[in-house]
Amino acid sequence: MQKIKNYINGELTEPAGKNYLDNINPATGEVYSLIPDSDERDVQLAVDAAKAAFPSWSVMPVAERSDILLKISQLIDKNLDRLALAESIDQGKPVWLAKRVDIPRARDNFHFYATGAIHLSTEAHATENTAINYTLRQPIGIAGCISPWNLPLYLFTWKIAPALAAGCCVVAKPSEITPMTAYLLSELCIEAGLPKGVLNIVHGLGPKAGAAIIQHPEISAISFTGGTKTGEWIAKTAAPMFKKLSLELGGKNPNMVFADCNFEEAVKTSVTGAFSNQGEICLTGSRIFIEKPLYEKFKDAFLKRVSTLTVGDPLDDNSRMGAIVSKQHMEKILSYIELAKQEGGKILCGGNQLHLSGKLSKGYYIEPTAIEGLPYDCRTNQEEIFGPVVTLMPFEKEEEALKYANSTTYGLAGTIWTENLSRAHRMAAQLQSGIIWINCWLFRDLRTPFGGMKNSGVGREGGFEALKFFTEEKNVCIKL
Ligand code: NAD
Repeated sequence: MQKIKNYINGELTEPAGKNYLDNINPATGEVYSLIPDSDERDVQLAVDAAKAAFPSWSVMPVAERSDILLKISQLIDKNLDRLALAESIDQGKPVWLAKRVDIPRARDNFHFYATGAIHLSTEAHATENTAINYTLRQPIGIAGCISPWNLPLYLFTWKIAPALAAGCCVVAKPSEITPMTAYLLSELCIEAGLPKGVLNIVHGLGPKAGAAIIQHPEISAISFTGGTKTGEWIAKTAAPMFKKLSLELGGKNPNMVFADCNFEEAVKTSVTGAFSNQGEICLTGSRIFIEKPLYEKFKDAFLKRVSTLTVGDPLDDNSRMGAIVSKQHMEKILSYIELAKQEGGKILCGGNQLHLSGKLSKGYYIEPTAIEGLPYDCRTNQEEIFGPVVTLMPFEKEEEALKYANSTTYGLAGTIWTENLSRAHRMAAQLQSGIIWINCWLFRDLRTPFGGMKNSGVGREGGFEALKFFTEEKNVCIKL
């Protein structure tokens, strides 16, 4: 059976404790590889390697650093099919989706920051002919990057690429549920000639290997994407150590459909925004609010379109949805469907685990599920489900839609469907979300600030924001 290895000091290594965890293919429910069950000893080795690499990496001319990162980007592109297949087997997502979205985005993350770092500049302030201040921006040191399982390589590289481009050395941990493409990335980094110790990838459990990264006194910045509860623990642990923190956390995103919308587009994109990647996207539009006059028409068209979504083998290009990432997560989603029924919800479609046949008979599948008749403030409508489950709710006025939309503790993303320009701007300004899409969903420009308000996180990724995060600002004042 394939054994994944840590990537420490430029080498693929066994974990110090020689212990491994099972890695399961969610499409079949079978163990197909083993993951290092790393602990604080492995994290210490990774920190030692990063520390030794930092003096030369941090002062390397940015164009040289950029060249190495561009090589990694090119190698991701060259291995696109292989990486997409690995991502699909590891995560359960359709392989066509990994080919079209996940892996190209991982390639682009490296490309974007390899070139972006060249353009990072600093400011100067002249003080009324008496002094000149200029600001230095220096790499912060060793950065800890921890990512979740839903978009494995996509989100892992979204942190690592800006950290490396800014001149930091990195100790990173992918999710133990989806470690495979991070492992393949370490092979590509070796091939690209990334100097040893610049990037170290430690595999293993969150509360063990992950916690050791957060608690390590020599790791000065933490970039984390994952659940809000984990983020809370990280904030509590890291704050007394004065670590710089970027937290990208959960979401419960409103999708607001007004009667004057472009109907076909709104229906089509609302279905994609609800069920893409089995609904396992932090930006999923899981609460759909529909203006009353349009409610029945929208519901019918939405359900008709959902009925065409085939759930099946992730490796089959005809499957629109694949497997849920793990048995535990499938059970969590199913428990929320039960809760929705107890709360008085009416299941409009789906609502069940799906049992496929043959080699998929032990896999984890759930039908795309839509529910109506629930109040906006019940648990189903307040808590993140992170699966193929959405609720439909009618509203009468803008104020009511806003009240519903802003009622959760989350504030990640929101979508507004309307052809009324004034309304679109009005709603965008009042929606408590870090990311607003008007007449679209998950339309990304990597230069824009990305992140959430309220319990959806602290800080923003993307563009120069991420490069700045991994640097320390120093003001130098010269008296004239
Ligand atoms: P999770 O919080 O369980 O795990 C995320 C990562 O943190 C994993 O690598 C895990 O091993 C690690 N971890 C867990 N406990 C830790 C600890 N005590 N110390 C250090 N590391 C620890 O989240 P998940 O289940 O993997 O991912 C799903 C969540 O991620 C959802 O809430 C989703 O909304 C969120 N998410 C947010 C964004 C965003 O950009 N805001 C993007 C994707 C996913």
